[in-house]
Order: sequence, then structure tokens, then C-alpha cells
Amino acid sequence: MAGIQVSRGTRDILPTEVSYWQFIEATARDILDRAGASEIRTPIFEQTELFLRGIGEATDVVSKEMYSFNDRGDRGLTLRPEGTAGVVRSFIENSLYAQGDVQRLWYVGPMFRYERPQSGRQRQFHQLGLEVLGSGDPRADVEAIAIATDILKAIGLKDLTFDLNSIGDKDDRTQFREALIAYLTPYKKDLDPDSQDRLTRNPLRILDSKNKDTQKILHDAPSILDHLSESSKARFNRVQQLLADLSIPFQLNSKLVRGLDYYSHTVFEIQSPDLGAQATVCAGGRYDGLVTELGGSETAAIGWAMGLERLIILVQKLANSAMASRVDFYVVSRGAAAEGQALRIVQQLRQAGFKAELDLSGSAFGKQFKRADRSAAAACLILGDSEAEKGTAQLKWLASGEQVELVQAELASEFQGWRDRLEGAS
Ligand code: ATP
Ligand code: MG
Repeated sequence: MAGIQVSRGTRDILPTEVSYWQFIEATARDILDRAGASEIRTPIFEQTELFLRGIGEATDVVSKEMYSFNDRGDRGLTLRPEGTAGVVRSFIENSLYAQGDVQRLWYVGPMFRYERPQSGRQRQFHQLGLEVLGSGDPRADVEAIAIATDILKAIGLKDLTFDLNSIGDKDDRTQFREALIAYLTPYKKDLDPDSQDRLTRNPLRILDSKNKDTQKILHDAPSILDHLSESSKARFNRVQQLLADLSIPFQLNSKLVRGLDYYSHTVFEIQSPDLGAQATVCAGGRYDGLVTELGGSETAAIGWAMGLERLIILVQKLANSAMASRVDFYVVSRGAAAEGQALRIVQQLRQAGFKAELDLSGSAFGKQFKRADRSAAAACLILGDSEAEKGTAQLKWLASGEQVELVQAELASEFQGWRDRLEGAS
């Protein structure tokens, strides 16, 4: 049958995988909450204009990757390709700056980019991000970075590399841009086509070209770090000092850039060696000019975003058993009277906070017991005709095989003992 399949570049997150997602989201939520960050949920689609201004027309995302369409009212809309633009729009539109000097806002959700799908690269993917709006203090940079590294550590990831750079302020970049164009122009014909194109439009972006020949040419290119003003340099030194104080290891990478005018100073990327070509799990930077670009008043800001699909790939390799959710009680029954009582018991267990699964098959006890084993439940409750008649149930602890008969009406008196026993086992 030519069935309908999932769209190219999208995936189902099936129940076997969903526990990893929940683990990562819960871990991040807990750390963000302790850091005083509030969750914000903005729409999946926005006016296309927001992203043209908020991401910039010269970027790959805007020029090649956006899912843009006109709706039935002929409005130009785009499925969000990232989270920052929507958060900043909302920050301005809802005057969130009035609620305190510094706003720490985080989000999680699907993003959409028309890209070539590969491992760790999809057309619908998920990002979790933080935006800290309202402080230009170097401590804000380091706080935001520390929150990201705390999350990655709590998830259990190791061997990550942390690349750091400063792209200075606007004047620093104007100078650097000239130096870079002067250096690259003689090599123009040897650059890859994309980079040739960027030479006048957006030369800083050439620095993160993945093309081998272009990279060779870039080897001796001028460094942005040699073009920082005294105050930009002092600021960057402070960031590095504060990171060292927190024992967050980093390496300087002067080729790490963001090609847009409203980015400034700190930029960073966190990578994993276990992901192949799509190695970046978290990317961020300071964007002091974005709020005014989108019509707000001047607001310093820094943020980052993590790609959840890439984190999932890494977490699955760790196969942490804490993520597997297990059933406390698996309830099997046979015969109309027993089946009715079993349903009541399952409800009672769930309402008391236990995780209980009811076998609905009506099949022979042997088959039901097999499923109980497969569920990895701690214990099995068994009700047949004779239990139904007496108003009892058999309780069997599956690890030890120990079995007792209990009176249904007195079940609640066992609950505390069960809780202790289940807690001790986990
Ligand atoms: P890349 O160089 O991998 O294309 P990017 O610079 O486009 O990354 P950002 O816009 O900075 O990425 O997004 C932050 C993070 O979101 C990335 O580091 C990555 O983990 C994740 N990400 C970006 N695009 C995708 C995608 N198409 N599929 C899955 N994850 C993605
Ligand atoms: Mg990309």
C-alpha cells in the first residue's frame, strides 16, 4: 500500500524515545527555574518581516531556509526558524522590560528550516533557548553560559568543547571588515562560490566557511581579536576571567563569528566530538542591537539555543536507566467479577500515587503474566474467580517471587509499606 509517510526532514518522537525528551526538558526546566528564568511561549508562526529584520536577509536561514507562505488573508507568514526573534518581539510588544531590569526568558519548541536532512539536521527540529535581556554586564554573559553548561552537565554529557570569541563592537567590526576584505580580495577566485558572494555582502561569515580550500586561505587571515578597541578587549578579558573563576574551560576561536550588525562582543559554541559533522549542540552570543532593530528601546541582551535532536543522540548513547519509566503494579484478572474489581483497584492505586497498568486482554493468566514480566513492574496483582468471590487479591513481588493474599477492602493499609519498599528498590 502506498501509505502516507511523515514529511521529509520531520520525525515522529515515539513512546520509546519520549522519556529521553522528558528527561532533558525536566532537567533544563529545573536548572532554569533555579536560575530565576521564566518560560515564555510564543507562536509557531510570525510575520515574515520579523525574521527578515530579526535574523537578517544576508543569512542562510533567511535567504534559503525559511518556510514562508501567504495565508488566506494574504498575510506573509513564516514558521519560526529560531526562537530569539519571537521572544524579542514579545518582550517589546508586552513591555516586559517594565517588569524588572533584567528579564531571563527561556523557551522550548519546534523550529522549521528548509535544509538537507541528515543526522542531527532536520526540517522540523527543536530548540531550547535562554534570552537574558536588560544587562550588558559581562557577568550576564557568564551567567548565561554557566546555565547552559550546568544543563549539559546535568544531562550527563562529557567531553564537550567550548569555543569562545569576541566580535567587539560596531566600530571594531567596521575596521576588521576592511582588513578582512583587503586580505581576501587577492584570493577571490580561489574562494568557494558562497564565500565569493559574501566577500562584499557579509565578509565576516566567510570565516566559518566549511570549505577546505577557503579554510586554507583563511589560515593567515587577520584576527578580529587584533582589532578590538581597548574597552572591548577589557570586556572580553573580564568574561574570560569570570569563566575561569567558575572553572568553565574554554578555548579561544577567533574564527567564530555572527555575521550581523546587531551581534556584539561575546559569541560561543559548544560542540560534541560524538556527533560527526553536526557537532554543535549549543550556540549563542550577545545581541545588543536587536531590540532596537525590532522597534524597542535600547536593551543589551545575550542568549543561546540548544538543538535538542543532537542532545537526544548523545543522551541515548548514555542509556541512563533513570530515564526509563517503570510500572509499580501490573494488574491481571480473569472473569467478569474479577475484571470489574481489578479496574477499581487500578483506579485506587493510581489515585494513591502508584503507577499501575491494567491488563485489558482477557486472555489466559499465563499470557497476562508474560506481559507483566515484560512491563518490568515491581509487583503483580492477581484476581481470579476465587479471589473475586472472597473479595481478596494475590500480590506477587516479581523480583523475589514472594506472594501474599490481601483483602481488597484493606488495601489502603498496605500503601505506606509499598511506597517504602518501591523507593528502596529504585
Ligand atoms: P548549523 O551550523 O548546525 O547549521 P546554525 O548556526 O544554523 O547551526 P543556530 O541557528 O545557531 O544553528 O541554532 C542553534 C542550534 O540549533 C544549533 O547549534 C543546532 O544544535 C540546532 N540546529 C540548528 N539547525 C538545526 C536543524 N536543521 N536540525 C537540528 N538541529 C538544528
Ligand atoms: Mg544552519
